[in-house]
Amino acid sequence: MDIQTKCIHGDGAAYDTTGAVSVPIYQSATFAHPGVGRSTGFDYTRVQNPTREHLEKTVAGLENGVDAMAFASGMAAIGTLLELFSPGDRIVASDDLYGGTHRYFYGISVKNGLSFDLVNTSNLDEIRAALTPETKAVFVETPTNPMMQVSDIAAIAGICREKGLLLIVDNTFLTPYFQRPIDLGADIIVHSGTKYLGGHNDTLAGFLVAGGKEVAERLRYIYKTVGPCLAPFDSWLILRGIKTLAIRMEKQQETALLIAQWLTKQKKIKAVHYVGLPSHPHYEISKRQASGFGAMISFEAADAPTAVRLLERVRLIRYAESLGGVESLITYPLLQTHADVPEEQRLKIGITDRLLRLSVGLESAGDLISDLSAALGE
Ligand SMILES: *Cc1c(COP(=O)(O)O)cnc(C)c1O
Repeated sequence: MDIQTKCIHGDGAAYDTTGAVSVPIYQSATFAHPGVGRSTGFDYTRVQNPTREHLEKTVAGLENGVDAMAFASGMAAIGTLLELFSPGDRIVASDDLYGGTHRYFYGISVKNGLSFDLVNTSNLDEIRAALTPETKAVFVETPTNPMMQVSDIAAIAGICREKGLLLIVDNTFLTPYFQRPIDLGADIIVHSGTKYLGGHNDTLAGFLVAGGKEVAERLRYIYKTVGPCLAPFDSWLILRGIKTLAIRMEKQQETALLIAQWLTKQKKIKAVHYVGLPSHPHYEISKRQASGFGAMISFEAADAPTAVRLLERVRLIRYAESLGGVESLITYPLLQTHADVPEEQRLKIGITDRLLRLSVGLESAGDLISDLSAALGE
């Protein structure tokens, strides 16, 4: 079945006998047993709930995974994922990570005995050089947030297979509509479902998708024990969002390309990072491993006052954190998403006081460009 159809029909299972076309919201904490030692398949909502199960099977199907778990946020998914590891374990990760992931690693996991080796995962030699006998996993975001660096998932999967490491890919930016890391050899996929999967800036969610049975079982055990589950109503909202994922991704990408091209022509903009521009250093690898480039752009204003003025003057585009929704949002990574990343690390990867990140929504390209143009003007 084509992914566009999978987005609409999910796992195709009927969860009730009324014929409801929209999956009902099973707002129940617990489920009665038909007899001693018997179960309807549902016992308690922390473990499983019919609405959430439908969502999880849908996401597993989109990513070609064996199982998916839905979380109350992307960070809840990442926190649960890190419970796979034990004191002494090391993880090699992208040096250009979502700021919250960086904060989780260094603010929480380090205290629990994990260590991290941050490298530019676009460079396979850097990954190889960072491996130690204690390394248990490689964690990549691709494209990265906010610098839009792309890593070769299949090549990294090859290294991981050879060394017996788990490959974890944060697929938030491209979604399974454009990129399916399990097909390229990844073991676990992370999502902030808050972003494109939900798509409407109206709720938080997260996912872990497992590529194999063994890792799926380990994650399920942690999931039901820790209890970071997504509520039934929010599960329903994300299901509703996914129904339009295909058409949103296509349109947002189309508009993003137009905006990226326009930005490259502006005197007050010094650099534009969009994977869909042929001038992007990772354009070719992106074309090889993904079917699209997404709708996230970062760009550098000529100077900090220009960046700040743009943030304060945009009207249609809202100056807010988050991304992936129908409303276009602009952020200042320095003060928002990456405020907790140490300055030295920030500057090394290019997160300066001139860098802005734009999540292109579903407004018309013309209106968005007019908004940016007016905000950039004197
Ligand atoms: C937003 C985001 C997260 C965290 O997800 P939340 O839903 O905000 O908890 C993780 N990774 C990436 C790439 C993100 O953009």
